[in-house]
Amino acid sequence: MSVAALHKKEMAPKEYKSDVSVVWCPGCGHHGILNAILRAVSELGVDPTNMVSVSGIGCSSRTPYFMQSYKMHTLHGRAGAVASGVQLARPDQMVVVTGGDGDGFAIGGGHMPHMARRNINMTYILFDNGIYGLTKGQYSPTSRRELKAYTTPYGGPDDPMNPLLYMLTYGATYVAQAFAGKPKVCADLIKGALEHKGFSYVNIYSQCVTYNNIDTIQYYRDLMREIPADHDTTDLGKAMDLARGDGEGHRPMGLLYQVQQETMDERLASIVKLVGGSKDYDQNKIINQFRP
Ligand code: SF4
Ligand code: MG
Repeated sequence: MSVAALHKKEMAPKEYKSDVSVVWCPGCGHHGILNAILRAVSELGVDPTNMVSVSGIGCSSRTPYFMQSYKMHTLHGRAGAVASGVQLARPDQMVVVTGGDGDGFAIGGGHMPHMARRNINMTYILFDNGIYGLTKGQYSPTSRRELKAYTTPYGGPDDPMNPLLYMLTYGATYVAQAFAGKPKVCADLIKGALEHKGFSYVNIYSQCVTYNNIDTIQYYRDLMREIPADHDTTDLGKAMDLARGDGEGHRPMGLLYQVQQETMDERLASIVKLVGGSKDYDQNKIINQFRP
């Protein structure tokens, strides 16, 4: 959503924090991501009454409780679907989804392609810790095979999915990645996502210190490589090459892809115009035209 269209507020990052205590484990990467979000909205001057944060179920899905904004805590995996509805009903609001890898790509996996291909004008921040934390340590779609979790005590049988390739394939118009140990990088990428008109996806690796003992903060430090400054962010093929990794096991950090395309609310507005404007809109009349 274009932030320029919103009311502006001058608030320090800590003023965007609600009075609900943050209950995440000490050392959890989610603390860093929350701070990055608070910093991003503060730097953009977002008025909390212009923002709706939506989540499903999981440790990261508690994020809306900790922020000043309108908020909806929905069902497991359904945050994207609910947020899509919110955005289409209230295109004047900045809509942000916060959630985890299990919530987004397993239970909510059916919704992910459609948010991207429809270019819904909202931001999805995925806290990727390769585990289900809230439900106490089950293997998730982004878990590595080496992870010995409660549901995979001998390691996993399948390879992890690649969220960046997935989002690029389905048509997300802003795709970025970072890790929780780089709060300034995270804040800048989140800022870019919030300012982007269209569906923006930010994948942020986040260490779960309680249930995932292999994806540590040090593991992520060694894993990530900054995207070269001369990368052409409008080139989908090059973005996909970056998303696949460098062949030596590293993952890209930064903005992979950004293009401007018509958003779902704009496309719907054009259709409403075709049928005579919103005040004359009569759904039954339109359906009846097509009845035999
Ligand atoms: Fe963070 Fe893991 Fe604790 Fe959940 S269980 S708060 S993801 S460290
Ligand atoms: Mg998770």
